[in-house]
Amino acid sequence: MMKGAKANVVEAIGNTPIVKLNHIGKDLNCEIYVKLEYMNPGGSTKDRIGAYMLDRAVEEGDLKPGGTIIEGTSGNTGVGLAMWAAVHGYKCIFVLADKQSKEKIDNLRAFGAKVVVCPTNVEPEDPRSYYSVSKKLSETIPNSFYVNQYDNLHNRNTHYTWTAPEMYEQTQGDFDVFMAAVGTGGTISGCGRYFKEKMDKVEIIGVDCVGSIIAGYHKTGEMGQAHSYVLEGVGEDFIPENYDFDLIDDFEVVNDKESFLMTRKLLKEEGIYAGGSAGAVIEGALKYAKKQTTKKKILILLHDSGNRYASKIYNDDWMSDGGYLDSSFNVQISEVLN
Ligand code: PMP
Repeated sequence: MMKGAKANVVEAIGNTPIVKLNHIGKDLNCEIYVKLEYMNPGGSTKDRIGAYMLDRAVEEGDLKPGGTIIEGTSGNTGVGLAMWAAVHGYKCIFVLADKQSKEKIDNLRAFGAKVVVCPTNVEPEDPRSYYSVSKKLSETIPNSFYVNQYDNLHNRNTHYTWTAPEMYEQTQGDFDVFMAAVGTGGTISGCGRYFKEKMDKVEIIGVDCVGSIIAGYHKTGEMGQAHSYVLEGVGEDFIPENYDFDLIDDFEVVNDKESFLMTRKLLKEEGIYAGGSAGAVIEGALKYAKKQTTKKKILILLHDSGNRYASKIYNDDWMSDGGYLDSSFNVQISEVLN
């Protein structure tokens, strides 16, 4: 074994840097720091949960040699699982909703995984939904393991035992607020629990999107009506088991357009090439920062890389067609053309 080398790519997950934002939000009474989880080998923080959940599944006897790993995933978790499966020699089947980007689907197929695409706008209980299809496949295929990142508590345990201690060590706990965009609830609940145990005054703030029911449920305890939205990876239309709402102090809610515009601004002004949920959480952080009367250091986890959104958020035609670009953008184009 060569000195200084990692035994395999899974061993290269983690130790991602934390970087200060120097332009975005500089007029506000807060400092914003972001953890670049896109620097993981598979391009997202989901590399961590993929490896951790599968290591536990082997340990606990749920995943056996020659087995098939099945998951309903928006893509990032699929990459994390597929990477672990490639290293350890397992097969994978992924079930995706059809709103997911083509890059994500192509990427999973390139790992040798089988990908099943299901309609987005159906209820979770509908037999065509990606939740129902994943469950059905796992019941039908012998020697298979349904990972279920929504209700598998090793999702939040990953962040409790790995991501959060890493951030705490990097910063020595020198922050006042931790923020993350929420989906399964694993990141916010796992990190939230660790930080609340370690620090007296830390605030844990989730960022949800318009159309999701999570923030509304936290506020009222009632399951509201979900509406469709375009942002990937953020929000849910049900409450996954990984949520621990007692740890979350508050939520900020953002919409598709402001998230996409902020994602692009993050690249233009800070050189950070991240996915749409990064724009969402930073937009949420600015909303939070505007309400603060004392200066705070905000630590934010950015989940994934911009690569997977090259044909969407970073494509002007897609942005224009979706109505996400302001008229000022078109004015600029015509000014260049004339
Ligand atoms: N951003 C992206 C891009 C994601 O894929 C996810 C996972 N759904 C999240 C944010 C939310 O993270 P979590 O599932 O841990 O709440």
